[in-house]
Amino acid sequence: MSENKKIEKITGVKGMNDILPDDAPLWELFENTVQSVLKSYGFQQIRTPIVESTHLFARGLGEVTDIVEKEMYSFEDALNGDKLTLRPENTAGIVRAAVEHNLTYEGPKRVWYTGPMFRHEKPQRGRYRQFHQVGAEALGFSGPDIDAELIVMCQRLWDDLGLQNIRLELNSIGDAPERNQHRADLIAYFESHKELLDAEASRRLYSNPLRILDTKNPAMQAMVNSAPKLFDYLGEESKAHFEGIQKILRDNSIPFTINTRLVRGMDYYNRTVFEWVTDELGSQGTVCGGGRYDTLFSIFGGKATPACGFAMGVERLLELMKASGEAHNPAQCDVYLVHQGEQGRAQSFVLGERLRDAGLDVVLHCASAAGAGSFKSQMKKADASGAAYAAIIGDDEANGDTVTIKSMRDLDINNNQVNVPFSSAVDYLVDQMTGASETDACCDDPNHIHIHH
Ligand code: ATP
Ligand code: MG
Repeated sequence: MSENKKIEKITGVKGMNDILPDDAPLWELFENTVQSVLKSYGFQQIRTPIVESTHLFARGLGEVTDIVEKEMYSFEDALNGDKLTLRPENTAGIVRAAVEHNLTYEGPKRVWYTGPMFRHEKPQRGRYRQFHQVGAEALGFSGPDIDAELIVMCQRLWDDLGLQNIRLELNSIGDAPERNQHRADLIAYFESHKELLDAEASRRLYSNPLRILDTKNPAMQAMVNSAPKLFDYLGEESKAHFEGIQKILRDNSIPFTINTRLVRGMDYYNRTVFEWVTDELGSQGTVCGGGRYDTLFSIFGGKATPACGFAMGVERLLELMKASGEAHNPAQCDVYLVHQGEQGRAQSFVLGERLRDAGLDVVLHCASAAGAGSFKSQMKKADASGAAYAAIIGDDEANGDTVTIKSMRDLDINNNQVNVPFSSAVDYLVDQMTGASETDACCDDPNHIHIHH
């Protein structure tokens, strides 16, 4: 190989991020909190494939939606020509699986999922091409109590994550007959203002007129603001359902505002739609969106089954957690093993296994490209690891079959360190880590190490 031929580095795909070890504690905190909140409401985890048939999304989300029109990563299976798509969202996949496995056969089911989603968008703050969602789907429930439960559950999650300033926007977009009547009137209204429609709106006039209401074009705002409002078309049942949700939210002190312009991007929604929004993330301020989708099971060929769910954007929520000072840096381990010499290294390895048997988290210092490391540099690593103790086996300890245990935090005890027999090191460290006192409750235990001050 030529000396000066520079090998080009291969970089990650644009808009698809590496989540590096320094960020892992925050992800874990988020995931653990999510898991415990969802469990406390009886939701069970479901894991569906990242790749689904392209047809699933086209049929489920609607052909004339942002996602299906321009955001999907679709490809043909090179071996058999199947049309496949990296999932841009997961409600379609969950309902596909629920129909396929008859999940609601024995009654309604609460499920949740977490994982990566893929959308070909322009990467920017809070908007990526691979991003992560946590979602919950309540399958088979028809009453307003489940819509409200999903919302209250989100509020509990924000509270447990220490997040404030996320507000709830709520709307009802009615059922199909109400939507159809509104749609006809809306098209007529837009037709009578044809000269004001921009190219995108004209294109959507007959395919998805509701989406025109979402326009960001300032020239269309006034016209759009006086368009017929779907809200005014709701029938008695839709209204009662919507009022039922509001009552439960009030009973449980969850503030909300009704935003009659909230329609959400997917075709499958009916009645309830909601979004959790913050002002702290710039223009990507929606951290969670959801709603009811009573017709999706039928659309996928299943038995008509009412359902309701939400999906939240994990990256956006983590950014909020960072901003609220939720970032934390737990210790990498309880004990860091420091050693010198051949024998010391061998004994440290064995000690590490025994400590892990006893349930402790242990990092063994291992040789790197820089070599085995001086005692001093190993102690620096021990310090940086956040370990409570360093267990040191140098030549003296190896020859005497002992271990020197140095407290990395408590500066009072005996110059921070004690020397204990190798056979007692595990018990000693376990006692220390579980907070047992050094002097009492041990005197009739012959294995216990006594610390001499
Ligand atoms: P937006 O209006 O921001 O494009 P959306 O309506 O397309 O959002 P949903 O399909 O409702 O988003 O997805 C639920 C949540 O997933 C969003 O509220 C957001 O927090 C998150 N999300 C959606 N798209 C992305 C993305 N490209 N990158 C990061 N997070 C995203
Ligand atoms: Mg979007």
